[in-house]
This record gives sequence, C-alpha cells and structure tokens, in this order.
Amino acid sequence: MDRRVVEVDVGRSVYEANKRLADEFRMLLDSYGVRAYEFMGSPGSGKTSLIERLIGIALNNGYEASSIGYIGGDVATSLDTERVSKHGVQHVQINTGNICHLEVPHIYQAVEKLDLRRLKMLFIENVGNLICPANFPLGAHRRVLVVSVAEGEDKFVKHPLTTRLADVIVINKVDLASAAYVDLDKMERDARSLNPRAPIVRTSARTGEGVDKLYHVLLGG
Ligand code: MG
Ligand code: ZN
Repeated sequence: MDRRVVEVDVGRSVYEANKRLADEFRMLLDSYGVRAYEFMGSPGSGKTSLIERLIGIALNNGYEASSIGYIGGDVATSLDTERVSKHGVQHVQINTGNICHLEVPHIYQAVEKLDLRRLKMLFIENVGNLICPANFPLGAHRRVLVVSVAEGEDKFVKHPLTTRLADVIVINKVDLASAAYVDLDKMERDARSLNPRAPIVRTSARTGEGVDKLYHVLLGG
C-alpha cells in the first residue's frame, strides 16, 4: 500500500481558495469605503426588480447615481444590466457562458470597469441559481437570499445550505401569496428554523411593499 498517496479534497481546496480571494476583495472594497450586497436566488425570484427598487430609494435618499454600482451575472444577455442602467448608475454585465455562479475573479474583471473612488454602494446580482452560489462567496458585506412565493412554500427547506449562509432573507412577491396558495408564516418559520440570525423581510418588488424595510436592513446592519 502506497502511504505517499494524498487524497485531494478538490471541493475543499477550491472553496478555501475562493474564500481567501473573497476576503481580499472585501478588503479592497473597504479601502474605498464601498459596501457591497450580493443577491442570490432562483431565476425569476425578482432579484433585479428588488435591486431596481433599492436603487430608487437610494437615489431618493440623496445618493448620487454615480455612487451606486451594479454588477449583473447571467449566463447570457445583458437584459438585466440594461434595466438597471436606466437609473444612471455605474453598471457592468458579466456573461458567464456555461458557469452557473459568479466567482471572485469575475468580479475583479467587472470592477475594473467601475470607478471605485466614486462608489459607495455596490449591488452584485449572482446568476439565477439557488444551489452553488452559496459555496462561492464574493466578498460582499451582506449576502441576500431572495425566494419568491411563486417558487413554492418549501423552497427554504429544500435549500438548507443557501438559507443558512444568507445574511438577509427576502420573501418576495408577497402580493401573489394567496394566488400561489402559500402560507407566508410557514415559509418564514422554515427559514427561521434553518437560520436563526438573518433578518427576514417580506417584499413585493411589484407593489413596493417591504422594500423600504429591506433598504434599512441592508444599510443599517
Ligand atoms: Mg435578474
Ligand atoms: Zn455554479
């Protein structure tokens, strides 16, 4: 038996390397006084719409458009970035091709196209995916998990790791809760049982309900 064999835990070394890169990126953001918020969630959960609402609130609260940044990750198209760019903020689209989540090197490439000295607030929208983005932190100060009621009541229990790792949990599309036969209190209890520390905010990006609260949770914490 060859005792010199080392079984490499590929997953672990990749995750650890990524974590170090994420910490370095956060230090870069801190040196420029930029606070970053990463949004994770399924395709269609409402990440882009929520970010647009939050940008609107920030602009109303006196933030200059150029002090707000948006990095959008999608497999293809720049549709989301086009939407967000209408608000006049700094913006970059990352097309990942076949990759189903963003990684820190992608973010570094995107940030080269932003003027960090002017930035105060950076929104990073991960690729629509509830599974692997959780394993690849990007260095944002807050990781926001968005789940919409249209995805079904059991979304949190089916994705325990992502739910546990979130700093803020958003239940979006609450205006559709009764149409989707979803018990919001049960959803919230499920999320709370997996993650006792994250604030849970109920929102509707469509009506604007709860978005002020989300804004204050993000900026306050
Ligand atoms: Mg989107
Ligand atoms: Zn992935």
